[in-house]
Amino acid sequence: MRPRIVLLATGGTIAGTGELGKDIGYQSGSLPAEKIAGVVPGLSDIAEIKTIQVCNLNSDDMTDSIWIDLARRINDLSREPDTDGFVVTHGTDTLEETAYFLNLTVKTEKPVVVTGAMRPATSNAPDGPRNLYQAVEAAASGANRGKGVLVAFAGRLFPAREAVKRHTAALDAVASCAGGEAGCGSRKHTTSTEFDVSGLKALPKVPVLYFAVDADPALVKYAASNSDGIVIAGAGAGEFSQAWRSALERCKVPVVVSSRTGCGPVLQETMVCPNAVAAGTLQPAKAAVLLRLALTRTRDTEELIRIFDTY
Ligand code: ASP
Repeated sequence: MRPRIVLLATGGTIAGTGELGKDIGYQSGSLPAEKIAGVVPGLSDIAEIKTIQVCNLNSDDMTDSIWIDLARRINDLSREPDTDGFVVTHGTDTLEETAYFLNLTVKTEKPVVVTGAMRPATSNAPDGPRNLYQAVEAAASGANRGKGVLVAFAGRLFPAREAVKRHTAALDAVASCAGGEAGCGSRKHTTSTEFDVSGLKALPKVPVLYFAVDADPALVKYAASNSDGIVIAGAGAGEFSQAWRSALERCKVPVVVSSRTGCGPVLQETMVCPNAVAAGTLQPAKAAVLLRLALTRTRDTEELIRIFDTY
């Protein structure tokens, strides 16, 4: 019997259409799930696929309510004995955030694999079919049970925590800065996290503020009074100006500091503001995902430090 995989489609370039043969100027999130799966040669030989259209959008329009809906659907379906694994198709722009959110909120050992594409379905050499085939193969493999959410892209498989989009156009744009492939992640995920989306309607608001020379501290002040927490994409190992430091020290909301460099850790030991939590190796957008979930449980700095050490 073939493994039974549920394909949850959310849109993105993998479902994009435009002028035949062109790789730019297309509309993201336009084909339905059955169409994306239907054109992949050999896909029905390796798995029995059931499709669910969760939404069909450009992933820059992803929202917290869709994230919560997606995690809940996976949680509900995973309890059914006739489902062996899940594939989520997604736009590449924010794929890493959704994958990490699911990694922290789905409560199943069954494989959950996220994928997308850099070229639309109407390209003369689309990468979507190959990525989708790889994702279904990974979701159908018993070897990927209990590994947390994975990202399948351009022939490689990454833990959700590590996958990032690091190029605007390359076919292997979604990759890992740590170079880790699936199986290397030692952080807690899925069934062993403390996060529960079953009663959630929305997530706390957490903007990411990017520091650059002469960045206006008024941005910090504005963010502090209009959100539940702040993530800083600091320079270097999580640094910023004296002006930002004084603004951040006055913040009444939790502050997490990450780095705009794209690789390497930000350490708690080097935090200059007493109320700041270091993001560790999490990149700014992912630090915002974790802070949003963490704020559903606590606002305490010590607890937030523990959470950022754990996930
Ligand atoms: N803008 C597209 C999206 O994220 C890009 C892609 O899918 O590659 O939906």
